[in-house]
Amino acid sequence: MPLSSSLDRVLARISARYQDDPYQLLQMLRAVQASYSHVPQAAMQFFARHLGVPLSQVQGVVEFYAFLHETPRGRYDIRFSDNITDQMLGARTLMQRLCERLGERLGVSAGVPRGDGAVTVDLTSCTGMSDQGPAALVNGLAVTRLDAARIDEMADLVDAGIALEAWPRDWFAVRDNIRHPGPMLELAMAPGAALKAAVARGAASTLTELAHSGLRGRGGAGYLTAHKWRFCLEAPGVQRFVVCNADEGEPGTFKDRVLLTRFADELFEGMALAGFVVGARQGFLYLRGEYEYMLPHLESVLERRREEGLLGSNVIGAGFDFDIAIHLGAGAYICGEESALIESLEGKRGQARVRPPFPAVRGYADKPTVVNNVQTFIQAAQISAMGAPWFSSLGTEKSRGTVLLSISGDVPRRGIFEYPFGVTISEVLADCGATAVQAIQIGGPSGHLIGASEFGRRIAFEDMPTTGSLMVFDWSRDVIAVVQNFARFFQHESCGFCTPCRVGTTVLRQLVDKVADGHASAADLVEIEGAGRVTRALSHCGLGQTAPNPVLDALTRFRPAFEARLTSANGDPGFDLDAELSEARQMRGKEMQHGG
Ligand code: SF4
Repeated sequence: MPLSSSLDRVLARISARYQDDPYQLLQMLRAVQASYSHVPQAAMQFFARHLGVPLSQVQGVVEFYAFLHETPRGRYDIRFSDNITDQMLGARTLMQRLCERLGERLGVSAGVPRGDGAVTVDLTSCTGMSDQGPAALVNGLAVTRLDAARIDEMADLVDAGIALEAWPRDWFAVRDNIRHPGPMLELAMAPGAALKAAVARGAASTLTELAHSGLRGRGGAGYLTAHKWRFCLEAPGVQRFVVCNADEGEPGTFKDRVLLTRFADELFEGMALAGFVVGARQGFLYLRGEYEYMLPHLESVLERRREEGLLGSNVIGAGFDFDIAIHLGAGAYICGEESALIESLEGKRGQARVRPPFPAVRGYADKPTVVNNVQTFIQAAQISAMGAPWFSSLGTEKSRGTVLLSISGDVPRRGIFEYPFGVTISEVLADCGATAVQAIQIGGPSGHLIGASEFGRRIAFEDMPTTGSLMVFDWSRDVIAVVQNFARFFQHESCGFCTPCRVGTTVLRQLVDKVADGHASAADLVEIEGAGRVTRALSHCGLGQTAPNPVLDALTRFRPAFEARLTSANGDPGFDLDAELSEARQMRGKEMQHGG
């Protein structure tokens, strides 16, 4: 199909901006999506030809990411965050209200552009604003603290065709909500302090210092950071890379959002520190698409650091080069897994690689790559500046330092809380003012759902590890509805690459829906356990391996809530499949007796 000359010019400009680099394909497609509210077939054909990659690969990328579309979205693309905490704050009711307001003349239904092409209203996975929801993205930009008045005004702005820049600025304000700062959040570190200390100490001694600190990766697995950096350093090869995983997609987590806002200098310093230690010259910050609004701020910090000699050539005059580029994600939870993130950085579908080899040995562009998350790099910088004892004196023997918690749900004080590892869940709940707590989900949907009998447990790698999310549910909440939200989330986010996860997450979702609808029998609970075990054991990557956690936890710890649904919750005789079957069996038995 011949390209229209205007599209042709735009595509050529986009491709040139990204230096015709196939690894930048995702960024190019994002730019097309932003300009045309979709990625036209002609654009895919252009990039396939121009970059020398198969058309099927380009198409596969467009299909993979939730923020890319083959057909046009509305000029205003509004997506409500569908995390359980947003739901609890009324997100779905507000979305319904917006659809009704916008659909007074032309009908609006979720996910379908209005007849005049002006607007699409839809749901999306957690946008990282659980402390200030209900939240939404409007053309990729975060809007927080939605309420009925804002929804009505939003409908008027859309109908009047008012440009987003003229919408009320306070709608786009994102608060940090730091409620309980600790040593990490309170440390004021001068830009360059960590790098100067590292250069004075030398790369090898800096790595030793990091090892003595006991710092473990804060992204989930808890791998010793110094070990990871050493593997990368010792892996064969000349070129190495440093990657920061800022794809904070675990529902209910928002600590990286705050760190990126408040501690961008420390983060970039930690990445440069890793570059100095392992001998890398290039770093990448992989920023989740939902945090696009931060891009100008982060780019300005990078630019200032270049001007100050803290990035670029001959960093701090110490004779090493290191710079950082920012790469935006496009709505795929799986890209939080480090090998999937690297695939995405290379402009491909974010599919988890077979490991080993691990990224430290073969990562970005098949070269040794350090991948750590935002908090880990910041803490590495702080350790370099302050020394290992400053850090290792905090926490427990196996979990040194502090943990950052993103707390949301049924609590009066939602936000960021920092504690030395080893703090009990009860202490945390008291600090955030939680009362009448029925359950908490710790570590996001891939973590664990626990009840009050376990609130004495300690948050630490050796007891209750967490990636930082802590969602609180009081006794007014329906545990089944919570689990249903998580089951839907995992089914939606499964990349479909391997059968156990693709089928397992679908089956689990269907079974949980069946329980929620009051149509399940005891046999379905057995089936949930079986499907959960198989999905956990046979899935290819962490997503599938952890997807059954919430439902299996709930079945173990909140079984009465499930059993109560096997009959109707409103007191009417419910649909009890086992009872129905047993009645049928008895009748059949009688028939057989009569017949015999
Ligand atoms: S486990 Fe799920 S997310 Fe991971 S590769 Fe398999 S299908 Fe994809």
